[in-house]
Amino acid sequence: MTKPKTQSPSTPHRPSQGNRDFRNRTRRSGKPDEQNPAPRGAPQLRTGAATAQPGIFLSAGREKSLLRRHPWVFSGAIERVDGAPASGDTLPVRDDAGNFLAWAAYNPDSQITARVWSWREEERIDAEFFCNKISGALAARGALKLADRSSGMRLLHAESDGLPGLIVDQYGDVLVMQIGSAGAECWRDTCADILQELCKPACIYERSDSDSRGLEGLEERNGVLRGRLPGNVEVIENGLHFNVDVAAGQKTGFYLDQRDNRALTETLAADRDVLNCFCYTGGFSLYALRGGAKSVLSIDASGDALRIAAENLTRNDLDATRAEWLEADVFQALRTLRDQGRKFDLIILDPPKFAPTAAFAEKAARGYKDINLLGFKLLRPGGLLCTYSCSGGISEDLFQKIVAGAALDAGVDAQIVRHLHASADHPVLLSFPEGAYLKGLVLRVAG
Ligand code: SAH
Repeated sequence: MTKPKTQSPSTPHRPSQGNRDFRNRTRRSGKPDEQNPAPRGAPQLRTGAATAQPGIFLSAGREKSLLRRHPWVFSGAIERVDGAPASGDTLPVRDDAGNFLAWAAYNPDSQITARVWSWREEERIDAEFFCNKISGALAARGALKLADRSSGMRLLHAESDGLPGLIVDQYGDVLVMQIGSAGAECWRDTCADILQELCKPACIYERSDSDSRGLEGLEERNGVLRGRLPGNVEVIENGLHFNVDVAAGQKTGFYLDQRDNRALTETLAADRDVLNCFCYTGGFSLYALRGGAKSVLSIDASGDALRIAAENLTRNDLDATRAEWLEADVFQALRTLRDQGRKFDLIILDPPKFAPTAAFAEKAARGYKDINLLGFKLLRPGGLLCTYSCSGGISEDLFQKIVAGAALDAGVDAQIVRHLHASADHPVLLSFPEGAYLKGLVLRVAG
C-alpha cells in the first residue's frame, strides 16, 4: 500500500520523484509540439490564478459523475484550472467549494480534460502507485488461469484497471503497450520499467498510433521500448497458432477480446457453410474450419491481414480446400453475394469500430443496420448470425435495437440465442460502462 508522504496533498505529482530504480526517469512531455498545435476543437479552458496551487475546480453541480466514480472529467464541467500545469500533470480535482474529489491526469488538449488516477486524497501518484496498480492487474489475470489456454492476454485494460489510457497486451514473451492519454504518456517509461521487472519479457513494443491519440493532442509512436522484437511473434490460442504483426497489424496486432467468441464459433460450425466478414488474420475462420465447417468464405479489405490469414491456415494444418479468402469491401461484397443468390448457415460480422464515441452513433447505426440486414438475407432458414459491435459509442441496448430493425427490414424472425462480450482479461469497471465496448449477439433465424 502507498503511504501518505510528507508533501502537501495538493502538490501536483510528476514522474521521477521516487527512490526506486525505475523511478529515476526523466519526464516525457505529453504536449503537442510547437509546430503541431492542439487540434481544432480543443476545449477552451478558463485558467485561474497562475501562481495558485495547481488544481482543477469543477462548476457547481458538475461533480456528480466523479462522486459515482466515473473516471473522466469533461472540459464542460470545469470552472477553472489554477496554476500553470502541463499536459499530463497530476492535479487534484475539486468541487466548486474546494472539496477534494480525485487525483487526475490533466490534458488541456482533450475534451476529456482529466482522467482519474485515484480517489484517495492521501495517495501519491508515483512509481509505487503504478507498481501497485500493475501488480494488481497482473495478479487478477493470473487468477483467470488463462495461460494454459492462451499465450496471449490483455494484461492492462486502461480505465477498467484503474490506469486510464494504458493498454498492454501480451503475446508470449512480447508485450505491446498502447498509450492513449497524456497522463499515461508521462508515466510511459516508469510503467515500461515496472513491466520489465515484473514480467521479464523479451521485448516491450509500443504501438501508440491509434486514431484516438489525435483527439488527445498526442503524436503517434511505433517502436521498440525495451529489449528486441523477435522476427516472428505468435499467439497460441486454444491450440491454434496465429502470427501477430506487432509492428504493423491492427490494434496491438491481434484481437484478444474475441477469444471466447471465436471458441464458441468452433462449436457452432460443424457441417455449415460459413461466411466470416471482417476476418482480419482469420481468427473466426480457423476456429470454424477446426469445428468441421463445410466451407468458410472469409472477407477483409486488408490484403496484409489476408496474407497472414492464409499463413495461419497452413501453419495449423487445416484443410485449405474448404477455405476461400476474398479481399473486398464487405458492404459491397455482401450485396454481390446477395445478387448471386449465395446462402450460408453461419455468418459472422465483426466490423471495426464504427463509432469511437457517442457522437458517431447515428452514422455507425446506419452501417450496422446495413451489414446486419444483408447478413440476415444471406442466411438459410434456421441459420445463425453472430454479430458484433466494438463501438464504445453504441450501447448494448442500442445495438440490439439496430439488429432488430435489420431483421424486420430483412423480413426474418430471429431469436437471440446468446449475448456475448469481451473475454475476461478485458474486465469492465462497474462505474465505467464505456469499458463494455464489445457486445455480440448470436441470432437464429426461423427455420
Ligand atoms: N474478427 C477479427 C477481427 C476483426 S477487426 C478477429 O477475430 O481477429 C476488423 C477488420 O475489418 C479488420 O481486419 C479490417 O481490415 C477490416 N475492415 C475494415 N473495414 C472494412 C471494410 N469496409 N470491408 C472489409 N473489411 C474491412
